[in-house]
Amino acid sequence: MTSGELSGRVAVITGGGRGIGESVARALARAGAAVIVAARTETEIDALAAELSALEHNAWAVPCDVTDPAGVQRLAEEATRLAGGSGVGILVNNAGVAHSAPVARTELEDWNRMLAVNATGTFLCTRAFLPGMVEGGWGRVVNVASVAGLTGARYIAAYAASKHAVIGLTRCAAAEVADQGVTVNAVCPGYVDTPMTTESLQRISEKTGMSAEEALEMIVVHTPQRRLIEPGEVAHSVLSLCGEGARGINGQSIVIDGGDLLS
Ligand code: NDP
Repeated sequence: MTSGELSGRVAVITGGGRGIGESVARALARAGAAVIVAARTETEIDALAAELSALEHNAWAVPCDVTDPAGVQRLAEEATRLAGGSGVGILVNNAGVAHSAPVARTELEDWNRMLAVNATGTFLCTRAFLPGMVEGGWGRVVNVASVAGLTGARYIAAYAASKHAVIGLTRCAAAEVADQGVTVNAVCPGYVDTPMTTESLQRISEKTGMSAEEALEMIVVHTPQRRLIEPGEVAHSVLSLCGEGARGINGQSIVIDGGDLLS
């Protein structure tokens, strides 16, 4: 992507307060986009928006719970107002939560929470912003799914089901807008070095008695590159999908895991 390629574009990043979303917001701002970060923890999104604004970027924080249809509607209205005439051209559906348990011990509450945040949240935001993109004749929706959206594994049924739903939504929405200047794609990272992964490692430690370092080693040893993915690597893919050069990429799921699916 060329420097400033996204200037004049306005991007909404859900779950933009920390982890991958924070990294995506920084990358989009550096590429010239105005960014609107949305999440529930106001201190995190306010701090990021203030930091980016101090660096001469246009950045705003709008609190939102993506599982709340009225809240998503308010986010869409506020973001459209902040975007002014440009409209919101980029939506990164990144807000997400993780949970692990064997199927037989997965509580209905946890199953519902995975689907509500990861799948329904992505649907509600896409539904709220897609019409404006179609009307403007240009748009990019990037859904942060997971390798768990493409494959199965032990103990992550609820999470994987929610991410499979995101991939299905991505493909269907992409088909609907293919001839209208809008693309809808997904990125599918393996384990990324974020607060979500730190929490997962803590849960493994509590359940097994391993140290957090041993739990990390257990995960990393099964990855092809023997390491966690950096949030910036995910942001790099998201950014490239937002550029003009990616206008022919639509409905795809870009895997960022060091090659795990090939092994
Ligand atoms: P973090 O836990 O570090 O950040 C998650 C973000 O999502 C936070 O900003 C959080 O903010 C927000 N969020 C959670 N629930 C809601 C909600 N109901 N409404 C609005 N925002 C919400 O996670 P990561 O950065 O690791 O994950 C980002 C995305 O990447 C997720 O979709 C995750 O599934 C996916 N992913 C992560 C991987 C990993 O290994 N970390 C691997 C593959 C995919 P708040 O709590 O303040 O609302």
